[in-house]
This record gives sequence, structure tokens and C-alpha cells, in this order.
Amino acid sequence: MSAPTRLPLNTPRRFYRGGERILAFRGLETPADFDGHRPEDWLASTTRLFAEGGDGVTVLADGTSLPEALAADPDHWLGPDHVATHGVEPGLLTKLLDAGERLPVHSHPDRAFAAAHLDCEHGKTEAWIVLGAEPGASVWLGFREELPPHELSALVEAQDERLLDALNRIEVRAGDTVLVPGGQPHAIGEGVFVLELQEPTDLSVMLEHRRFGLEEAHAFLGLTVDRALESVDRGPLTEEGLATLRRRWTDVSGVGHALPERATEFFRAEVLSATPGAPAVGAASFAVVVVVAGAGTLTTTGADATSPRSTEVGRGDVLLVPYGAGAVQVDGDVTVVRCMPSA
Ligand SMILES: [Zn+2]
Repeated sequence: MSAPTRLPLNTPRRFYRGGERILAFRGLETPADFDGHRPEDWLASTTRLFAEGGDGVTVLADGTSLPEALAADPDHWLGPDHVATHGVEPGLLTKLLDAGERLPVHSHPDRAFAAAHLDCEHGKTEAWIVLGAEPGASVWLGFREELPPHELSALVEAQDERLLDALNRIEVRAGDTVLVPGGQPHAIGEGVFVLELQEPTDLSVMLEHRRFGLEEAHAFLGLTVDRALESVDRGPLTEEGLATLRRRWTDVSGVGHALPERATEFFRAEVLSATPGAPAVGAASFAVVVVVAGAGTLTTTGADATSPRSTEVGRGDVLLVPYGAGAVQVDGDVTVVRCMPSA
């Protein structure tokens, strides 16, 4: 399987609402029995949900699970350098996320906390590439003022609006990107549709949980509340700090990074933006390719650059491209984002 393959929809049921923007983006009809709780499409996932049934792993169109496919031919899928450094896992979880309601305020452990207390080598730094947003829609990130541990505990105990109010509110629109380092508390507001890159875990500390009906054991990763709250960055996250976490992916012409520099230790999101007569080219890599604007052709050169294959693509197409497919070129009037592991 050396050609790009289209990734099937993979939308495990979640506790919060959403999902119609994913179906619309993908060009799919909303099924008559749609339950309204399919807000995340897990793309090229080797990760399972921490709770809520444990689904999430991608099954390819031929019925093989992605972990099985990777194990059968790791060098082809991931490239020998990646396998030597990271083993037979992409080290990346990519999602489309449609917030049909505001998500609860939560945070994810960083690598050090996950290694020390959760027996896991990955934390969960994540990044949002905003593909669409209702007018005035926002996200929240980081405490504006430093919160002493006892104040954080008190806010979590109270489970009221003060937790959200303590965060930086950021109005977003299509074209924005935001990096969310492990530990930083955050929430995505209703009406925001993002392409999300994450470290490949489902470890969340649900600071807000009661109004979403989440159990405490799920909310705090099975840890004591005090221990779980040690993973939270108590701030402050200042204006200057926020500026280092933001970018505009639509500012890229040709080839460039969608995410701020400090994301590259965790994952990469490369924008390839072609205009008629000016193709854009990216080097061979395992990548989830999401067509975010326009239409055109995606060509892979083949491992030896002598067996090119072309696919017609348009906004909403989601492709999995193995390292062995070779370099990728897009032609036409089209912009894609290539979600890739760290180099
Ligand atoms: Zn999150």
C-alpha cells in the first residue's frame, strides 16, 4: 500500500456534543440516526479512549487496524529513521474536532508528570488549527493570574463559572493556530471547528466535570485530586506568553509551518499551499494530509521517485500517506496541512 489512502470516518461517541461540522467538511450526509455526540474524528489513530468504551483506533479501508499495518511494515509506513528513534508508533494523534457545545475546562499532563505518575512516556501537548469558527467564538487557555495551589483546589471543588473566568479568553477565526503545552488548562468554545494534533494519549484532568456528568475517577485519571492537580500549570500565562503560542496558518504561501516553533519537539503541521503554476512540495514522511482549502492534485513520487501516483483532492479530503510513498507535491489552487510526527 504505497499510495495515499483515504481515511474512513472514525468518530467514537464522546460525552459532549458535536460532529455535524465534521460530516459537512468531509462531504457526508448527517445520518438519520445521528446521536449528536460524535464531535471528534480520530485520524490515523493508534490511541484508545481512556474511558467511554476504549474506542478510537483507526481501521483502514481493507479492514486492517493501523497498529497491525504499521507492525507489518514499519520502515515503509514510518521510515527507518523514525522507527530507529521512536519505534513502531507514529507518536502523534490527529483529530478533527467540532465543538457543538463548550468543552469543559481541562488540562493534560506533560511528559514529566506522565512518566512519573502515569507510567506513560507521552504527555499530551496539543495544538489547534482552526478551520472554522462561528462569529465571536472563542477558546480559553492558561490562567491570567497565578493561582496558589489552595485556590486551584477551591475552584475545582466549587465547580462553578469562576474556573472558566480565570482563564485567558481568545476569540478565534479560521486561519488561527494555538499551541497548548502540557499542563496548561484550556477549553474550546461552542462553534469552533479545529484540526488538532496531539501527543498520542487520552490523558485529561477534567477540572470541570460535574456539569458534564463525568465521574471523579475518570476526571482525575485515577489519581488523588491533589496529585492530579500537581500536573496543572497554575500560571500566569501572560499576553507575551500567549503570543508565543499563536500563529496564522493562512499566512503561509508555498511551504511553511502552521504551528509555533516550540511545537516541533512534539509534532509538525506543514502547510503546502499551491497556486496555479506554482506547486508546493514536501519531503517524504508518514503524514495525515488534510485538504483545508481549494482543489487540485496530490502527487506522490514513490520511494525511488520513479513511480508517481496522482490523486484528485478537494477541501475535506483526509488522506494517510506513508513515508514509502515518497515526496508529496500539490498542484492547483489548493492548500493542505500535513500532520506529521516530530522530525
Ligand atoms: Zn485538551
